[in-house]
Amino acid sequence: MTNRVVILGGGTGGTLTANRLRRLYEPSDVTITVVDQDDRHVYQPGLLFVPFGLTHPEDIVRPRRRQLHRGIDFVESAIDHVDIEADNVHLVDGTTLPYDVLVVATGAVLVPEETEGLTGPGWMEKVFTFYTSEGATALEAAFAAFDGGRIVINVVDLPIKCPVAPLELCFLADWYFTERGMRDRVELTYVTPLDGAFTKPVASEHLRGMLAEKGVELVTEFNTGEVDGAGGRLVSYDGREVPFDLAVVVPLHGGAPYVARSPGLGDDLNFVPTDEHTLQAKAAPNIFVIGDAANVPASKAGSVTHFEGETVVENVRRFLEGEPLRAGFDGHANCFIETGFHKALLIDFNYDTEPLTGHYPNGFGLPLLKESGLNHLGKLMFQWFYWHSLLPGRDIPGIGSTMPTTGKHLSGKD
Ligand SMILES: Cc1cc2nc3c(=O)[nH]c(=O)nc-3n(C[C@H](O)[C@H](O)[C@H](O)COP(=O)(O)OP(=O)(O)OC[C@H]3O[C@@H](n4cnc5c(N)ncnc54)[C@H](O)[C@@H]3O)c2cc1C
Repeated sequence: MTNRVVILGGGTGGTLTANRLRRLYEPSDVTITVVDQDDRHVYQPGLLFVPFGLTHPEDIVRPRRRQLHRGIDFVESAIDHVDIEADNVHLVDGTTLPYDVLVVATGAVLVPEETEGLTGPGWMEKVFTFYTSEGATALEAAFAAFDGGRIVINVVDLPIKCPVAPLELCFLADWYFTERGMRDRVELTYVTPLDGAFTKPVASEHLRGMLAEKGVELVTEFNTGEVDGAGGRLVSYDGREVPFDLAVVVPLHGGAPYVARSPGLGDDLNFVPTDEHTLQAKAAPNIFVIGDAANVPASKAGSVTHFEGETVVENVRRFLEGEPLRAGFDGHANCFIETGFHKALLIDFNYDTEPLTGHYPNGFGLPLLKESGLNHLGKLMFQWFYWHSLLPGRDIPGIGSTMPTTGKHLSGKD
């Protein structure tokens, strides 16, 4: 009997899952169908570089179809809802896709309209986000025209995709305005709901120090209730205000809206409750979740999505073959943090171990939590790995899906 696997979302997680499954099974044994609402696969980490003119949206986008191996069906349509009782996906074009196994890989969406004033007067004129191609492009023009004044970089609330990306924007802005010879005329302020620069204590302390070194003011425990674009103010729920001439805001995130129309599948934010080690959905045994769509306590990051791929594919196979699932995912995340001036940090952590100093993936590897030119090159090269290794579902030599401990300083000191 031919089994039917339907994969919702043709981004990072959906594409690598489809390609890994195709390698495992012949089309006569398992049909694989990927559904996405459009055919534009954006390399999202590249959006960070757009505002600084270091890359352009057309250089970080490729057709989704072309990233899928032969023998995988691609359906271009928005998902309307999933009927988990009947094992059917309903598309907005009226098509019904029955499945034996469903993989949810529909990521996270931005919901800027949830914050008062954010998309009101000044939106895309002096209030921007770099989390979309349009926003990053508009911000590039605004930065180029900026003549000095106060820039705030604000995270409204967590979870967000790539929680270090707004910090990277601060560091690159410091570099960019220095290069333009006008850094002394630009005040940079990082405004976060957290009680420090980042969530994990050792990394948070390092990053706080770096913000201070680069002259970026840090405002913590600021829960943005309103963005007043016309008046140039962020206003917190407890009445504090941060003035700005230009704001870069990372809006609230949620899961894809169709999740709310799929009874039993999602939580209040439309993320999908998921076992954090097997990546099986809580809703039904034949549903697995990969990437930002899952509510697991890992970062919403492409690296996490990549490391989850091995467990998801293994457990889809085990499910189809009637074997017990493997609790294989340990929350492994790693991320290059661009710090400007051709340098970057690298952090590596999982559910149990916070980002520590040392080297990755072993004692002779890239320096962790330390600025280096090598890490910057790693960040730049990653786009090549993304298209040619990660999405096709190939293993990256020397990089395992579980977090390595060799090379790390468990005390957190250099
Ligand atoms: C600015 C920025 C910088 C980043 N930097 C990094 C970084 O340096 N390192 C890192 O590891 N990660 C980074 N990330 C995060 C990374 O891009 C994501 O975590 C990763 O792409 C998640 O993969 P995914 O498959 O879960 O979601 P996605 O790749 O976003 O794919 C989800 C897909 O689902 C589709 N979809 C959603 N709803 C529907 C629907 N109703 N119908 C049909 N299709 C639908 C979407 O069109 C999309 O293609 C960054 C993200 C941003 C925004």
